[in-house]
Amino acid sequence: MSEDSIFGKIARGEMDADVVYENEQVIAFRDINPQAPTHVLVIPRKPIATINDLEPGDRELVGEMFLAAKEVARLEGLSESGYRVVMNCGEGAGQTVFHIHLHVLGGRDLKWPPG
Ligand code: IMP
Repeated sequence: MSEDSIFGKIARGEMDADVVYENEQVIAFRDINPQAPTHVLVIPRKPIATINDLEPGDRELVGEMFLAAKEVARLEGLSESGYRVVMNCGEGAGQTVFHIHLHVLGGRDLKWPPG
């Protein structure tokens, strides 16, 4: 299922995205409906639908996603001001695209808890 998601197409280079960072394992691109001045999504090239589908072999890949989020924050000038990194799991938490992705949000005051 996740191979056919929008993000699967972006990961395979079949669909355009505003890419801000990429390496062999992950791609980071701007959210099409930004919720903050900076709103970037970090996805693995490997299709994984939700956090529930992660396996022990994905341990390094998940770490790579967070290192990419850190690099995105640096590139966007957010390292000192602060930023939020979050991943929704399942429809009940608001997940709409079933290819795991970290949201990197910053550039404005962020309230806690989120809605
Ligand atoms: P989720 O709700 O956590 O699954 O987040 C999915 C995010 O993907 C939402 O913030 C959408 O605005 C974003 N999105 C959906 N389609 C695209 C696209 O084609 N390019 C970039 N972002 C997208």
